Order: sequence, then structure tokens, then C-alpha cells
Amino acid sequence: MSNERKPEWLEALQKTPLTSRLRRKESLKRFNTWRIGGNAECLVDVVNVADLSLLLPFIRKHRIPWFILGKGSNLLIPDTYWPGIILHLSGEFRGWEPLEGNSASEKNEVVAGAALADVTFAQRCVTRGWGGMEFLIGIPGTIGGAVAMNAGAHGGETAEFLKEAEWMDMEGNLHNSPRESLEFCYRYSELMGNYGRIITRAVFQLRESDPETVEKNLLECQQFRMEKQPYNQPSCGSVFKNPPGDYAARLMESSGLKGKIRGGAQISPKHANFIVNNGGASSADILSLIDTARETVFINHSINLELEVQILQSAVYG
Ligand SMILES: Cc1cc2nc3c(=O)[nH]c(=O)nc-3n(C[C@H](O)[C@H](O)[C@H](O)COP(=O)(O)OP(=O)(O)OC[C@H]3O[C@@H](n4cnc5c(N)ncnc54)[C@H](O)[C@@H]3O)c2cc1C
Repeated sequence: MSNERKPEWLEALQKTPLTSRLRRKESLKRFNTWRIGGNAECLVDVVNVADLSLLLPFIRKHRIPWFILGKGSNLLIPDTYWPGIILHLSGEFRGWEPLEGNSASEKNEVVAGAALADVTFAQRCVTRGWGGMEFLIGIPGTIGGAVAMNAGAHGGETAEFLKEAEWMDMEGNLHNSPRESLEFCYRYSELMGNYGRIITRAVFQLRESDPETVEKNLLECQQFRMEKQPYNQPSCGSVFKNPPGDYAARLMESSGLKGKIRGGAQISPKHANFIVNNGGASSADILSLIDTARETVFINHSINLELEVQILQSAVYG
């Protein structure tokens, strides 16, 4: 049962000296690409590191349910009320600072803020003639989400170009971790909000190329998306991870799942691993299609599909 009474911690939070804006009872529909979700008790647009270093220990001290989201492009949010704090990075976390160092080791390097849009990052690489991360043009998330999820496409992934990540722990301390000290694998990293680690910015080293080549690659990535994916409908990209040596979409399509409808949600007739919101879909509609897809693929192929999408389902405490 939801409890929408004013929480005890709210007054203390409102008295905390923050520059960041607190929003109350904010609908989370606008904060994810499925356009689904209920209201959050409190959403904070965190504008700087100083505020983040006050908020995280506060959350921990008061044992408040919390979650950090980027653009919510890999997230299923329940239709019900969320009783805690949603952290949404903005302001100085949208930074882009190319390193102009003369040393070879600093060549083609940029420091990108965790709230910078992947698409903006990819477009800025064109101007510089930096290659490698063109795949980000089709990923509608943030740099923080890309590092956290080790986002990738067209044979590339974020961790390949990461040199260093800056993150904050729940006590408000900042850390700098070189890529080699961090564990990454397919759509996984150990730098996740869920593990009490908030990525604040990251240093990337791109490949030397030229603007024409980078732009051409970028346009190819865009063309591929337009042909193969339902890019103009609300979705969360791939719902399931590809199992080793196979594709979730192939397994789903050959199980007859394409086009299946539940309420306002549908397994896309264009790409079986995308579930789209045809209008008015609820999180229950999506979850029901997820269950059906898993069950049907298991019956047909004896393979357990693993979720790529994250579900905001239970309280995460500091
Ligand atoms: C049309 C479409 C196409 C897509 N194509 C691809 C694709 O080709 N390849 C791919 O990999 N993904 C793809 N995705 C999925 C998604 O865009 C990526 O996973 C993206 O990296 C998520 O970023 P986000 O900022 O939206 O993160 P969110 O969805 O908001 O969050 C995802 C997870 O990252 C965590 N997180 C976010 N920011 C931080 C932070 N600063 N610190 C710590 N943890 C954080 C969240 O807590 C959550 O657990 C696609 C999605 C859509 C809608």
C-alpha cells in the first residue's frame, strides 16, 4: 500500500542549503523514454558536486529510498507513487571540456559530465574529427548512463574509450578511478547508482580521424536505426540482453512474439526486442509482455532471456 503522507525527512531536506531545485510530487513520465511512471515524492535537479556531496550523506543518514536517473532510456518506472528521492543531474554535470594537453597521452581526450546527452557528445566529436564513439548518436541517454550501463552498438562500447571515471560515494567523497581498475562487461559496470556510486564525469580518449569520416560513420549509424528500429515510438531500446552467440530479437521473432499487444504496449512489429508504448501503456502492460516473452522463448528455445532494462521496483537505501 502506498503512503503519500509528507515524509519526516522532507522538512530537513528543505532546510539543507542547496542551490539545486527540489520538485515535489513530480510525475516521472517525463523522465523516461517509455513515457510511463507515477509521481515521485521528491525529485532533485542536482546542479553541482557541492550539492551532491550534501544530498548523498543526507539520504544515507535518513535511510531514504533513492534512485539516480539519466534520461531514463533504459528504465521501467512503476505507475505507482515513489516514496523517496530521485536524483537527476543537470547544471555543471552537462560539461564538455576537451583536454588540450601537448603530451601524446592527452591527445583526443575530453572530460564529459555525467548529464551530457550521448547525442551531443557524438555530434561534438564530429567537429573535432574524433572517431570511435559514433555509436552514441543512436543512444538517447546520458554519459553517466552510458558508463553505468557500458552502453554500446555497432561493435563498440563505452568502456573501450573510457580513460578515467569520477564518482561519488554515499558519504559524499569523490573518487577518480582509472579504467583498468574498474570492471565492465556487456551492459554492466560496477559504477552504478544501485551500488551507491554516482558517476559525476568521465574522461574519454577518442581515435584520431577527420570530421568527414566521423560524420559519415555517424550518418550510417543513424540510417541503420531508422531502417531497423521503431525510432519514432516511445521505447527503452532493447528490453533483453543478447544471450551468448545469439540475438534476443531473433529468438523472440522465431517464437511468434512480434506484434503482440498488451493494453497500450506492443512488442514492436519492426524489431522484436523493442517494446513500444502505443499510447497509454502502463508499467504493468510492459511487465506482462516481458513475462510472456520470457516464457515463450524458454518454451521454444530453452533459453532464459536476461533483462537489459532496469526496473525501479524497490527502495534503494544509502
Ligand atoms: C531508442 C533507444 C535505443 C537504444 N539503443 C541502445 C544501444 O544501441 N545500445 C545500448 O547500450 N543501449 C541502448 N539503449 C538503452 C539506453 O539508452 C542506454 O542504456 C543508456 O546508456 C542509458 O542512459 P540513461 O542516461 O538514459 O540512463 P537511465 O536509463 O536513466 O539509467 C540506467 C541505469 O544507469 C544508472 N545511472 C544513470 N546515470 C548514472 C550516474 N550518473 N551514476 C550512476 N548510475 C547512473 C541508473 O541508476 C540506472 O540503473 C537505447 C534506448 C532507446 C530508447
